[in-house]
Amino acid sequence: MKAVRFHQHGGPDVLRYEEAPDPPMAPNQVLVRVRACALNHLDLWNRRGVVRLAMPHISGADVAGEVVESESGVPVGTRVMVQPGLSCGRCRACLAGQDNMCPHYDVLGSQSDGGYAELVRVPVQNVIPLPDAIGFVEAAAFPLTFVTAWHMLVTKAAIRPGEDVLVLGAGSGVGQAAIQIAWLHGARVLATAGTDEKLARARELGATEVINHHAQDLPAEVRRATDNRGVDVVIEHVGTATWQRSLKCLARGGRLVTCGATTGHQAEIDLRFLFSRQYSLIGSYMGTKAELLRAAQFFFSGELKPAVDRVFPLAEAAAAQSHLEESRHFGKVVLQPAE
Ligand SMILES: [Zn+2]
Repeated sequence: MKAVRFHQHGGPDVLRYEEAPDPPMAPNQVLVRVRACALNHLDLWNRRGVVRLAMPHISGADVAGEVVESESGVPVGTRVMVQPGLSCGRCRACLAGQDNMCPHYDVLGSQSDGGYAELVRVPVQNVIPLPDAIGFVEAAAFPLTFVTAWHMLVTKAAIRPGEDVLVLGAGSGVGQAAIQIAWLHGARVLATAGTDEKLARARELGATEVINHHAQDLPAEVRRATDNRGVDVVIEHVGTATWQRSLKCLARGGRLVTCGATTGHQAEIDLRFLFSRQYSLIGSYMGTKAELLRAAQFFFSGELKPAVDRVFPLAEAAAAQSHLEESRHFGKVVLQPAE
């Protein structure tokens, strides 16, 4: 098969479009012909070498395609999207339905080979059949960021109708998903972005208050929009660059949920504010298979729509990753293998 692999860690130039062996079949797995694979920041971390990987490596967590080989009861030809969380299926966490707490947890394309290829092999319990009306590009753009945002808002923050939710980085994968999920649950959404064009897109997705984080004072704008109260929930994934401002946006008793740190992972907290204002700081990582299935119901019914920024041919994966690194995107960047 053709695949995009890297043989050493480094910049986008280490990505090579080349021949690679087809993934071997294994028990309880299906072989999927990749029709689309969305990028995630995780792919950038893996390429840069934040965690050492076996070489050569194929990235790619978010896959949609067709089942081409199966010994597990899924008919060949079934159109599917892939749940990117890989877990053992046997431990206490997995059996309790909390597979994202599995000690053996992995995201497809991290310790395993992923979807920057014509073929990928995944466990049978990770494929979700697609309705005919859902295209491969939008299906690939859905799983990782929507399951992440669902877990943050619905499970971790236990969002309620009428609450105020601040979503940082409306144009990011998690940001565009979180705006839609918060809106779907009856929250009032405040969102930030760095350009007016992105702010307009955020409004289309359901944000009622938008704030330019380059041009405006974020905590001041949040106080203005909330009658000086602050927001009930902050959706954080930016890290060092925004941490202090995010805390200043919280109402008394507010919850800050974080799933990432794209600008750096060191942060400080003044404990006097943590206890006296009764904040909750909540870590969140990916989401469970059951949560993805729940979110997918709203995707298939048209109530959640992944924003797709741009589609690149698989062979241009390096250009696609550079596009993501430059933060000019709104929504997901997707790769498509040649027909
Ligand atoms: Zn497990």
